[in-house]
Amino acid sequence: MMAQYTPMIQQYLSIKAAHQDAFLFFRLGDFYEMFFDDAIAASQILEITLTSRDGGSQDRIPMCGVPYHSSAGYIKTLVENGHKVAICEQVEDPKQAVGVVKREVIQIITPGTVIDDHLLQDRENNYLVSIEKEKESYAYILCDLSTGELKGYTYSGNDLSFIQLLLSHGIKEIVGNKELSDSWSSIVSQTGQASISIQEENELEDQFCHLVKTITHPALIRAAGRLFCYLTHTQKRSFQHIKMVEFQQNDKRMKLDAFSKRNLELTESIRAKGKKGSLLWLLDATMTAMGARKLKQWVEEPLFVKETIEKRLQLVENLIGEFFIREELKVQLKSVYDMERLIAKISYGNASPRDLVQLKRSLLSVPLLKDKIKDIPGIYAAELHAKMNDHKALADFLDSAIHDEAPINIKDGGLIKSGYHEKLDEYKDASSNGKAWIASLERQEKEASGIKSLKIGFNKIFGYYIEVTKSNLSQVPERYERKQTLANAERYVTPELKEKERIILEAEEKISGLEYTLFLEVREHVKKYIPGLQELASAISELDVIQSFAVISEHYRYVRPTISEDGKVNIIGGRHPVVEKVMDAQEYVPNDICLNHERSMLLITGPNMAGKSTYMRQLALTSVMMQIGCFVPAESAELPMFDQIFTRIGAADDLVGGQSTFMVEMLETNFALTSATENSLILLDEIGRGTSTYDGMALAQSIIEFIHEKISAKTLFSTHYHELTVLEKSLPSLKNVFVSAVEENGSLVFLHKVIDGQADKSFGIQVAELAELPTEVISRAKTILQTYENHEKREALPIQEVSASIEEEIEESQLSLFIDKSENLRKKDPKELDIIKEIKALNVLEMTPLDAINALYKLQKKVK
Ligand code: ADP
Repeated sequence: MMAQYTPMIQQYLSIKAAHQDAFLFFRLGDFYEMFFDDAIAASQILEITLTSRDGGSQDRIPMCGVPYHSSAGYIKTLVENGHKVAICEQVEDPKQAVGVVKREVIQIITPGTVIDDHLLQDRENNYLVSIEKEKESYAYILCDLSTGELKGYTYSGNDLSFIQLLLSHGIKEIVGNKELSDSWSSIVSQTGQASISIQEENELEDQFCHLVKTITHPALIRAAGRLFCYLTHTQKRSFQHIKMVEFQQNDKRMKLDAFSKRNLELTESIRAKGKKGSLLWLLDATMTAMGARKLKQWVEEPLFVKETIEKRLQLVENLIGEFFIREELKVQLKSVYDMERLIAKISYGNASPRDLVQLKRSLLSVPLLKDKIKDIPGIYAAELHAKMNDHKALADFLDSAIHDEAPINIKDGGLIKSGYHEKLDEYKDASSNGKAWIASLERQEKEASGIKSLKIGFNKIFGYYIEVTKSNLSQVPERYERKQTLANAERYVTPELKEKERIILEAEEKISGLEYTLFLEVREHVKKYIPGLQELASAISELDVIQSFAVISEHYRYVRPTISEDGKVNIIGGRHPVVEKVMDAQEYVPNDICLNHERSMLLITGPNMAGKSTYMRQLALTSVMMQIGCFVPAESAELPMFDQIFTRIGAADDLVGGQSTFMVEMLETNFALTSATENSLILLDEIGRGTSTYDGMALAQSIIEFIHEKISAKTLFSTHYHELTVLEKSLPSLKNVFVSAVEENGSLVFLHKVIDGQADKSFGIQVAELAELPTEVISRAKTILQTYENHEKREALPIQEVSASIEEEIEESQLSLFIDKSENLRKKDPKELDIIKEIKALNVLEMTPLDAINALYKLQKKVK
């Protein structure tokens, strides 16, 4: 079969066989061509014309191509769609090739390994994760190749929660063995956020050992092994910019599962799915892309180490007091480019002359930055100051070598400054002397020949020439040799002109060759500075984050929190920072939050829209802000470091898909109940809402009891089940609070003030009225409510009994509107009754999403 194809297509097929999972960009002259299925798929994704060519076989071969010089945009589209692109270049000079030109894949560009600016978001990391599974736990390494960062983690928990957690890091590509890929690929592909790549080998090569020398965890070392095998396989080069793995110890960070991160809208708002409206959005007054990325990392991983938090808080405080220093810092930071990514490009050998100029300019800002922070007291400022080596020798060297206006392309010339290299200067002199000589020649020849319109010109094909218009041909001296005839003019050369031309062209060729070589040498030289430059970049990014905290804290009147040792929370005049920002600050009603050993749980009641969730999130965001080292929105705040925050807030649409809201609610609750400690914070908002009333209420009560008895974590529990407020009598550490609202002239006014005690009314119908539901519906609801209230026993009973007795009453009453339809069906159709039994028997919490879909499918088939 293969033999039928032309040798080039055979070469294509053998290379493609080794790169099945990538689009093979096969270099043919000025184009990257794709053939067969790649061509068909790529023509659709890239919206380019599908053609065909004769490849020796009977049928023509589908083909499409993109020009080499504009390939970047096409590669970007493919990679952004989660595909890989294998770049296959000609690796020998076509003129010297015998037979088909030799070609090799020189790099595989994948979503998690891109380093080109136009493929990256400058204020976000581009992560690839390499995973090693060990029974019930995982070791994984996050790698951002564009900045050289490596972070190692361990995790124990089920697959689903782990995938959620990874995706919450904003991972672009997951690298694991085939088994992992098989079991994860359908879930991961549903999210559309990341792609999975298979890498079987996980042996750590010697050349990378130094990068993991701080790690002892064997699975983590294997994860690193897998990562480096994958990077070597796809990038086919060495990496000098990859930093030592930082092991992120679980007990040094506040743990936040994916649900909580999302619910608290730390880096992304739930509704808009963008940064706007998130805590990150609020806190981001960073001046550099590096600072913006660092801030995001900090927000995603608050600390659990008191000294580091205090260190950051202290510097924020010191900077708040120094308005002028801060303003000058901002100016200097603004002139620092994205050094981390410049360094990656230098390591890759991709840095352009302009990149080196940017590096130099960044370095030139360092002495000024240092000068500003040297007077700021505190250990952190001193540490940052010490890490900021301005690399003066390197800055001077770059300044002496590279032209400030150097072009992006290294083949365009004009890269190297005069005075840097003697030989280069000689060639430049020869060239410019020659040019000056030619310029004076025009004047001389005009005078000698008397032809006023005589011109000297240059073109790439004929070189230098003397041009005389047709009307003056009679005056042309004999020593001119004719070179070219145009419609209106003749062009000539003279022996001296030819000689000068030879000198100039020779010099120019030498100049561009030499500039190119010198530039490569300069770039190579910069590689030696990589580790130092990385340390500098990291210090600058930290300084940028801290100045951002200071700016925001001052602007919004945040205060320095005190870390309490006994678990006590005492926040006076606390605010929700994001809600406050989006509304007029005057309108925000501050609230106190007081929790301690005798008051560890608050049961929050109050009408919908009163501010229950806002109050709960306020506490969580305040803790996160403190634990990343920022001031907090309050008049005064004392709170402990929380080891973990768990949330179940608001209607969460599921990240991984395939789960009902109630199921997500239960999964999130399960997380909290199984992992929380007494040092954790649990926020549960309207638990049980997703199921029928009595079911929900029963669950809510048993969850409260469990947390109270078994965990003792600080807990805020909001509920619309007023019946639960009786628990205050039996659970000593539980206290009722409510968010107040008043009815004025028949309409509802929210006061947003949280007060000890319980709300006497739920005001649901008034809220519906505010939402302008049809008056008919509202007045009908009022009537129904009255009937309902007449039936209700005022004293709440233990929940099991309440539900039984009320159910009976409801069945007899006319309140059929409130009765779950399935209850009616029970009397009618035995087939459907069976189905209800089956549904009841399902153990939903033990099911995977796939099991659930299958079960649903079976059930539906029975009904159809
Ligand atoms: P609930 O959880 O009780 O239904 P939310 O916490 O979602 O209510 O709050 C509803 C709205 O009320 C918020 O979007 C916000 O605009 C406003 N709000 C909440 N708390 C306050 C407050 N303390 N001060 C001013 N407005 C508030």
